[in-house]
Amino acid sequence: MLEIGLTGGIGSGKSTVAALLVERGASLIDADVVVREVQEPGTVVHAAIVQRWGTEVLAADQTLNRRALADRVFGDDVELAALNAIVHPAVADEMFQQRQAFAGTDATVILDIPLLVESGHVGLGGIIVVDVDPEVAVQRLVKFRSFTAGDARARIAQQASRQERLAQADVVIDNSGTLGELVIGVDSAKAWIDALERPPLDQEIKRIGSHSEN
Ligand code: ADP
Repeated sequence: MLEIGLTGGIGSGKSTVAALLVERGASLIDADVVVREVQEPGTVVHAAIVQRWGTEVLAADQTLNRRALADRVFGDDVELAALNAIVHPAVADEMFQQRQAFAGTDATVILDIPLLVESGHVGLGGIIVVDVDPEVAVQRLVKFRSFTAGDARARIAQQASRQERLAQADVVIDNSGTLGELVIGVDSAKAWIDALERPPLDQEIKRIGSHSEN
């Protein structure tokens, strides 16, 4: 298995790039999906969240109201740290399990991890960063994902800076243009992946720290 980290700020276009890489034959492990799985009703993470923030962070069907929870924690370092301490270990465990399912195969596995730069990434074959001006990300989050501009800016401010992310990149995909231009960037990133030396099939998988956007 060759593991490639994919990261970028919220609204940068990571999910779009991930889907394009899957169309080109890669397998995907999406940290945001894992976060949702480990927070489903009946899990210890769900119980711990309700214990701390109460039932007002739940929807009528008992699933987490992620927006309500985000409103409680973003912008408050203590609350955010408390949420991360509940969620991140469970996410790291589940990510590790999912990665292990590919061990010993020749799969190319994309790890879509919003906070990869913040959480550390030992042992990956390379890092792709999707880069866009944060104000363009704000506009897209408002237009396509029903954020308010203020919420989008606050979420971006919680994450690593554009410069910190770029400093970790092996490959940068610029997403300041059209979706058609993004496809061209993804094709060249895929060519870069295909040219990488693949690790031995029996290479040990190292755990990655914490890495969700919540
Ligand atoms: P992320 O996963 O990094 O948060 P997404 O892939 O969800 O970002 O992209 C944010 C939104 O912007 C989505 O609705 C996506 O369809 C849209 N989008 C992404 N790239 C472009 C682009 N180049 N032009 C227009 N819209 C885009």
